[in-house]
Amino acid sequence: MADTTHKFSIHETQNVKDLLKEHGFPVFRYAQIENAIYKNFITDFHAIETIPKPLRELLSEHCFYDSLEVDTNKTSANGQTTKLLFKTKGWEHIEAVIMRHLTGRVTLCISCQAGCPMACSFCATWKLGLLRNLDYHEIVEQVLFAAKLLNDEGNKLRNIVYMGMGEPMINYDNVADSIRSITDQKKLDLANRRITVSTCGIVPGIKRFTDDFPQTSLAISLHAPNDEIRKSIMPVDHTYPLKDLMASLDDYVAKTNKRIFYEYIMINGVNDHIALAHELGKLLQGKLAHVNFIPYNPWEGTNSDGYTTTPRFIIEKFQSILQHYWVISTIRATMWDDIDAACGQLANKKQ
Ligand code: SF4
Repeated sequence: MADTTHKFSIHETQNVKDLLKEHGFPVFRYAQIENAIYKNFITDFHAIETIPKPLRELLSEHCFYDSLEVDTNKTSANGQTTKLLFKTKGWEHIEAVIMRHLTGRVTLCISCQAGCPMACSFCATWKLGLLRNLDYHEIVEQVLFAAKLLNDEGNKLRNIVYMGMGEPMINYDNVADSIRSITDQKKLDLANRRITVSTCGIVPGIKRFTDDFPQTSLAISLHAPNDEIRKSIMPVDHTYPLKDLMASLDDYVAKTNKRIFYEYIMINGVNDHIALAHELGKLLQGKLAHVNFIPYNPWEGTNSDGYTTTPRFIIEKFQSILQHYWVISTIRATMWDDIDAACGQLANKKQ
C-alpha cells in the first residue's frame, strides 16, 4: 500500500478541485477525473488517459486512492454471495458482502466502523470493540470495489445496505458524506431509495437522518418487542428505550411516508416465545412497517453465549401471527453459510 501520510483521498472532491485550481488546470478536468474514477472504475491515476500527463503526475503526488487493500475475496459455492475482507491503512479488518439474489437483484452490505461499541449480545462484531470510525472515503471505496467487481461480471450494483460492521448513527458525518457521494449523479448515481441505513436505535441519529435523508430507507435492529428482553440483548435500549425509539420512528414515517424495515433475529429461547409475536404485532400494528425475521447464525469460535437458531416452524408461526395484526414480514434466506458472511465473523477471526 502506498505511503499516504501527506496525501488526501481522491474522493475528497473539494480538495481535488482546489488542487487543480491552484495548479492552473481548467474546471472541466475535474469532470474527466470524476468520470474515470466513478464511471470507469479506474484506480490508477496514471491510467486516466483523458487527462494530460502533468495532471496525472500531480494527482499521484498529492492524492491517494487505496484506503483499503483486499485481504480476502471469497465467493460461496452457489455463487450468490461474495465476502470481501479489506485491510485498512491502520491494519484493521473490515467487511463487505455482495449478495446476488435469484431475482437478479444485487445488494452490497458495507461497514461503517472497524469493530463496534454497541455490544449486541448476538453479534460477532462487537467482540472486537470499537477500533475506530471509518473515514468517508473508506466507505466509498468498499462500494467502488464491489461496483467494479460486479461490472466486470456484467452485473450492476443497485442496492446498498449499511448493515455490516459498526453502527452508522455514531459515525454519522462520514456515513452522510458517503451517501451523498454514492448518490451523486456525476459519481455512482445510485437512487437514494435503494440505500438502506440500519441502526440499533440511536434516537438522535435517527432524528438527524430523518431531516437529512428523507428519500433514503431506514432499517431498525429491533430484535425484541419490549424493553426487558431488548435490554438483555441490546444495551442501547438502556439509553434509548422503545418508547423513545418508536416516537422517533413515527416522526420519520410522518415526514417521509416511507416504510421502515424492522430486523428481528430469531434466537432460540431468548426472543422467540409465541407471546412475543403478539407483542410485536401490537407494537407495529397500523404502522408502515416490514419485519424481516433473521434466523440466528451461530458464529464458530466466538459464540460465548451459546445461542442457537429458532426452529423454522416457530419463525413461520411468528409470521402468521403478524399477519393477524396486518404487519408484513419476510424470513431472510441464509445465503452464506460456507463463507462466514455473518456480520463481523470473518474480521473477528482475522483480528
Ligand atoms: S448488531 Fe450492529 S450495532 Fe449491534 S454490535 Fe453488531 S454491528 Fe454493532
